[in-house]
Amino acid sequence: LLDEINKLEKLRIVSDIAASISHEVRNPLTVTRGFLQLLKDDQVTKDKKQMYIDLSLQELDRADSTITDYLTFAKPSLNNIEILDLNKEINYIIDIVNPYALLHNVEVKLEKNKDLYIVGEKQKLHQCLINIAKNAVEAMSGGGQLSFHLESRDEHAVVKIKDTGIGMNQEQINRLGTPYYSTKDKGTGLGMMVVYSIVKIMGGKLNVTSVVGEGTSFTLEFPVVNR
Ligand code: ADP
Ligand code: MG
Repeated sequence: LLDEINKLEKLRIVSDIAASISHEVRNPLTVTRGFLQLLKDDQVTKDKKQMYIDLSLQELDRADSTITDYLTFAKPSLNNIEILDLNKEINYIIDIVNPYALLHNVEVKLEKNKDLYIVGEKQKLHQCLINIAKNAVEAMSGGGQLSFHLESRDEHAVVKIKDTGIGMNQEQINRLGTPYYSTKDKGTGLGMMVVYSIVKIMGGKLNVTSVVGEGTSFTLEFPVVNR
């Protein structure tokens, strides 16, 4: 019965989100449309043009990741299961996140790394780590440090992602991953929901510790496989 209730509850959330998703996606589309309109003007300076293009690309990326997050929650299954080289994947994520971090005066560091292998879907692992890292950067409006840490503990790969941002109190930590929970102007509150569902289908665990005004630390644990 509990399973049935969970399924119904999830169905309700999924359809709720479907309704709000059109709104979340329409916003960036409207903004981008506006910029395209402006670009038609011959008088626009080169600098302005560049700015409109960059902002449009940013907005389109935002719409894209909102849709990806939504689909992941609606249908949380692993598709291309393979052995993943965590060390390699974390370096990849750092490369992806770096430009975004630099833009926000955030320094990204790889504190410790190790050759560790887990089983899962590469795309989903990326989505999960990127969502956490983006939140971390967004929590450091005045700049700061984002560090990645990889080690093994009792047959598990432990990934720690730490920021020196605004932090959260216990009540805020408890709300993480509930649909629409967001404290940001342009937030969707889908990111952490997706993180939790990906960690779960990959057989992992997620732990959050935080100190208001000092920073937050996300610890992910996945069973390791030998290679
Ligand atoms: P969004 O980023 O769209 O707001 P998320 O689900 O990704 O939605 O995150 C939900 C909320 O959790 C954020 O709005 C923020 O308040 C809080 N949060 C997540 N990660 C952090 C972090 N590293 N530091 C402080 N707050 C965080
Ligand atoms: Mg987010």
